[in-house]
Amino acid sequence: MNPPIVIAIDGTSASGKSTNAKLVARALGYVYVDTGAMYRTLAWHCLRHRVDVEDPKAVAAACRRWNTSLECVDGRVRLLVDGYCPEPEIRTAETSAAVPHVAAVPKVREWMKKRQRECVRFGNLVMEGRDIGTHVFPETDYKFYLDASLHERTKRRHADGVPEDLASRDQRDSQRAAAPLMIALGARVINNSEMTAEQTSGLIIEEVRQRLGGS
Ligand code: C5P
Repeated sequence: MNPPIVIAIDGTSASGKSTNAKLVARALGYVYVDTGAMYRTLAWHCLRHRVDVEDPKAVAAACRRWNTSLECVDGRVRLLVDGYCPEPEIRTAETSAAVPHVAAVPKVREWMKKRQRECVRFGNLVMEGRDIGTHVFPETDYKFYLDASLHERTKRRHADGVPEDLASRDQRDSQRAAAPLMIALGARVINNSEMTAEQTSGLIIEEVRQRLGGS
């Protein structure tokens, strides 16, 4: 049997990764994995249990101890904590501000990478994040990096109803020592400032189909 295919979609905050990853997954019949949601879930868990998110040792200890499981429902992987999958809770401004601190802890990244690699047990994947093409699945041949102007991304986030300082989150994500946000070698970069989600996902789907057909 062929090994599962992983399509890695990385990029800046609010660059359309989730929307496009979902469209690509649906078109190809692959399983969608939102790794940002996994980091957000840990940040939410820390806030809830009054773990200081700016204390890397405390965060690493919380990550070592939390009780989690992965499941795949309706073509989408979910991370459960004590049997519960938080959704609206992880999209608040408070969680968004806390998550880059949690995500900068090397032990957390090791833990996440392990869980994320385990997802291939669910089948072919479209996995979106910041370090999928560079660290989690560096061996994949299908790497994409999405970006858009800060103005456009801020507008999109406002439309989602959760205004935030995207530039400072991107800066933290790009400047951390462990698995910083960067363009993976061989990734196709798509600046979608002036593109619709259908156009962006269309480019990705077309390229993947072409390469699958040619391999
Ligand atoms: O993609 P999303 O905006 O939900 O990600 C939230 C945060 O999680 C990012 O700003 C980043 O700090 C962290 N993250 C990460 N590596 C990933 C996915 C997300 O560090 N692969």
